Amino acid sequence: STRLAGKTVLVTAAGQGIGRASVLAMAAAGATVWATDVNEDLLKAYEGERGIHAVRLDVLDKAAIAAVVAQMPAIDVLFNCAGFVHGGTVLQATDADLEFAMNLNVRAQFWTIQAALPRMLAAGHGSIINMASVCSSIKGLPNRFIYGTSKAAVIGLTKSVAADYVANGIRCNAICPGTVDTPSLQDRINANEDPVAARKAFIARQPMGRLAQAHEIAPLVVFLASDESVFVTGQAYAADGGITI
Ligand code: NAD
Repeated sequence: STRLAGKTVLVTAAGQGIGRASVLAMAAAGATVWATDVNEDLLKAYEGERGIHAVRLDVLDKAAIAAVVAQMPAIDVLFNCAGFVHGGTVLQATDADLEFAMNLNVRAQFWTIQAALPRMLAAGHGSIINMASVCSSIKGLPNRFIYGTSKAAVIGLTKSVAADYVANGIRCNAICPGTVDTPSLQDRINANEDPVAARKAFIARQPMGRLAQAHEIAPLVVFLASDESVFVTGQAYAADGGITI
């Protein structure tokens, strides 16, 4: 397809899961994609893929973000996908875990936007897509105090950027998946005493009776990256298998 022909895209946390599925979908739609991740081994899977530049980037490193953005010939789309899920309630949360989540899930988006936005403004257009979750200001889920707090902040950050630059050709939206069967979800399942029961519990909170696959979230990213969504900004888009019905 040519839905994203001529667009240059930066994706963080592109090594696996939703980030990787989105990179493949955007490249298939004709974009040139800078697929970045802190884990270089995961990026090797992109070798030989047309239209994909795989580059190591730790989004906790502000200078490294600026360096990658400066290397890019253009930046039409930014997909901030990096994030980590901590378990636990407010009474179980630690200062260190809260700080880690706010730095990775929120501050990294602030940093990448600060790096990319001046170039988008100079070009007169840009689409920023931030990874939130239904577990955020949209819905409270048990044992997700730190995670829900950080992803609610993503929605606030998204709306703030959208409001400030709505008249400058910049769009900023968040996506809010339900539970997606990715490597880190499997890690969270395996961390339970009874992983089989844990997977069943994740499925039970999905009204469709199943988890999403990462490639079922990617089309939303393609849409928000493309000019088809030209009238869409400041939104938090759920793709959640019915969690928020
Ligand atoms: P994942 O958690 O399996 O993979 C995360 C990737 O992030 C890994 O490749 C890892 O190397 C990379 N990463 C970690 N720290 C990084 C850093 N400092 N800099 C750059 N990259 C880094 O993938 P996923 O489950 O698809 O999650 C991706 C995003 O989607 C996260 O923000 C997550 O919160 C969000 N999300 C996931 C689900 C789900 O159920 N899986 C649901 C809603 C939202």
